[in-house]
Amino acid sequence: MVLERPQPAESSPLQLREIPEPTPGPGEIRVRVRVCGVCHTDLHIVQGELPMHKLPVVPGHQVVGRVDAVGPGAKGFKEGDRAGGIWLHSTDGSCEYCGRGQENLCLNAKFTGYDVNGGYAEAVIVPADFAYPIPPKFSDENAAPLLCAGVIGYRSLRLSGASQSDRLGLYGFGASAHIVLQIARHMGCEVYVFTRAPAHRELATKLGSAWVGDAKEQPPHELDAAIVFAPAGPIVLDALRALRKGGTVSLAGITMSPIPEMDYSLIYGERMVRSVANSTRQDARELLELAAEVPVRTAVTLYPLEDANRALVDMKHSRIEGAGVLRS
Ligand SMILES: [Zn+2]
Ligand SMILES: [Zn+2]
Repeated sequence: MVLERPQPAESSPLQLREIPEPTPGPGEIRVRVRVCGVCHTDLHIVQGELPMHKLPVVPGHQVVGRVDAVGPGAKGFKEGDRAGGIWLHSTDGSCEYCGRGQENLCLNAKFTGYDVNGGYAEAVIVPADFAYPIPPKFSDENAAPLLCAGVIGYRSLRLSGASQSDRLGLYGFGASAHIVLQIARHMGCEVYVFTRAPAHRELATKLGSAWVGDAKEQPPHELDAAIVFAPAGPIVLDALRALRKGGTVSLAGITMSPIPEMDYSLIYGERMVRSVANSTRQDARELLELAAEVPVRTAVTLYPLEDANRALVDMKHSRIEGAGVLRS
């Protein structure tokens, strides 16, 4: 499915096209795609809410499939192996951020389905160093949402500083939050979910949230940490109002509407707000290991690849319980 010109998802911007089969170069593998998860970032790209890097482009960065070609010198995978590809497609390995161990901030990072073609396709090229074996415990479709919703959610959870027996707030409850809830509970956190969509409330309750309410509501206890998944700036202030002194609000999204002006008292008391940008390979490895240990159960709604536009519209209107996944 190819994006030639960004438009609102409702006007079906993705078109089914035949494109030449990609060939893996040095250090790369080709993955025959079985499934690809649908992420909010895909929606932002398709609708032109992020600066465009490449057009036309094939979106999709939660790819699970089988390796069917191995480029010269590519290590760690052979034909027939199951492999996953994520948002971080490659880094330069040489900039100041890579040098600091912050490859998620690499100045020359390339992203799957944005700078290079992604997984809304039959085949995708992934550098072997940026591909991941999928734990056997997970089916293809249940693994797909782990690769971005899970990985970014995990990094957001880490950066929120939440630890055992903390009260954690999740603002918005889509693909990422439903995975984070399970990991946070496994860590011993009590989880408070703020969402309006009935399907999301139901799933949060089923997965063991301690409380479910609206973003504007004050939860019964102050929160030690919070993660904002919804791309709506005013919610950052809602989260700060619910947060204890010294707590952190981490922002999981790649974009967000403006954060309204706020009174200093909302952040005084050493409350912190921090964004989360991309992920490192270490985040991805840790998340996959942890997800298998929990074990995380992902809720997925499957769509045929050619229905990618419909999947994006359903996600846009919070009609998917858990994660949307395209089957090639
Ligand atoms: Zn770099
Ligand atoms: Zn994503």
